[in-house]
Amino acid sequence: MSSIFTQIIKRKLPSKIFYETDEIIVIEDKNPKAKIHLLIIPKIETKNFYVTPLKTLNLLNETVKVIAGLLNLENRFKILINNGFGQEVDHLHYHFLSDYGADKLKFINE
Ligand code: AMP
Repeated sequence: MSSIFTQIIKRKLPSKIFYETDEIIVIEDKNPKAKIHLLIIPKIETKNFYVTPLKTLNLLNETVKVIAGLLNLENRFKILINNGFGQEVDHLHYHFLSDYGADKLKFINE
């Protein structure tokens, strides 16, 4: 059984997509904890931060910068990574949160 996020990537479950490449998808969290709450998710299914190769972590880090730039939030965001502790979905994801820039939040599939 594939993860919830893999099902979203394969369009078997709905989501609000903010950004997507061949390797990454960025969606809105279904239960947002801030005005902006995005999940940056690698398309390869990898369980958590600790077991993930640096190459993939670098890609996620680069995507954080891309997202911050697109939303003009270079100095006003927070990243959260749960690694087993507090982790609900066993498919690595970075939480990207901010209470600024919500006016720039436009989803590519709506
Ligand atoms: P974590 O506790 O770090 O594993 O966070 C998992 C996050 O995924 C939570 O903030 C959930 O609200 C979010 N989430 C779970 N299912 C979905 C979904 N179908 N679409 C969007 N976000 C989801």
